[in-house]
Amino acid sequence: MASDVCSHVRVVVRVRPTTESEKTENCRSVVQVVDNHMLIFDPKEEDTSCFGSQRVRNKNINKRANKDLKFVFDQVFGEESTQDDLFEGTTKAVLDGVMNGFNCTVFAYGATGAGKTHTMLGAQNDPGVMYRTMTELFKRMEDAKEEKEFTVAFSYFEVYNEQIRDLLANIGPLAVREDSSKGVVVQGLTLHKPKSAAHILEALDTGNHNRTQHPTDMNANSSRSHAVFQIYLRQQDKTASLNPNACVAKLSLIDLAGSERASATNAKAARLREGANINKSLLALGNVINALADPKNKKTHIPYRDSKLTRLLKDSLGGNCRTVMIANVSPSSKSYDDTHNTLKYANRAKEI
Ligand code: ADP
Ligand code: MG
Repeated sequence: MASDVCSHVRVVVRVRPTTESEKTENCRSVVQVVDNHMLIFDPKEEDTSCFGSQRVRNKNINKRANKDLKFVFDQVFGEESTQDDLFEGTTKAVLDGVMNGFNCTVFAYGATGAGKTHTMLGAQNDPGVMYRTMTELFKRMEDAKEEKEFTVAFSYFEVYNEQIRDLLANIGPLAVREDSSKGVVVQGLTLHKPKSAAHILEALDTGNHNRTQHPTDMNANSSRSHAVFQIYLRQQDKTASLNPNACVAKLSLIDLAGSERASATNAKAARLREGANINKSLLALGNVINALADPKNKKTHIPYRDSKLTRLLKDSLGGNCRTVMIANVSPSSKSYDDTHNTLKYANRAKEI
């Protein structure tokens, strides 16, 4: 795994804990984590633990027969996994790539309510991957400061309805441009110099309040925007020499929009176009990852241009870029279809 640097997409799954309401509604668990690499979706009844005191026959419980589908991923994080487990198992290794000058991408995929924002952003007292990554980055810069000079900056924006909005400044839709030396650039995006890890946390919080959120029938806090946190690291050798080896790497940490289909949320006409666009970006992302992951496909066309999100990530997926996909799922039978779809999406992404 760690040695497969080139074009390798590391795919992990995180199962969030069952909520109190799911427990009281007597939903059954449709995800059984077998070990660090394997889970079973919709396991046979003997294998599931039932809530409450009585064991209920499967056909009486929410939804479907037992598909008993086994899935294997680079890593599976169960309900009791901590934010630190996630960081240690995903982004930490990605930072090696960034420190070596490669663009890297980590994204959280999954239906609304599956735990994407919890994983990426987290709570004030239990911060997620974004904050932990920055803390670790500061540590690594400190460790290497005798040999190297670092400059670090970050930006935070959303892709909503195929438009880019800066979450840290009140400026209109921004355009994506490809620069021959700088790679993909969002024109006019504000860059911020982090003073400390705490400053980042503050900026993420501010940015998150600026995210476009629309209540849908399914979940009042449903987010239909992709939130993209980017860190730019410039480094240069300190030793006086003719070749200072300056390089810039970009790390993108992305909280994707909910992957549920627009129809499932009973979206009204006004929302439908929006839903279609979101699916367009997610679909395009899936297609790009599949094209990159297919060894037979190395020389063929990678469809980056099919959506804003994939255009944005053109210089951050594939090649020497390290990519981690965190597929978030709910274990509850209430989310049966969403969980199944997310596992299938994640499973396609890892086929290399
Ligand atoms: P999403 O961003 O995918 O819509 P959220 O991250 O908002 O989902 O998670 C939905 C709810 O579940 C939130 O209340 C969140 O705090 C909680 N939650 C999600 N994942 C976990 C977890 N691993 N541990 C504890 N609570 C979680
Ligand atoms: Mg969210």
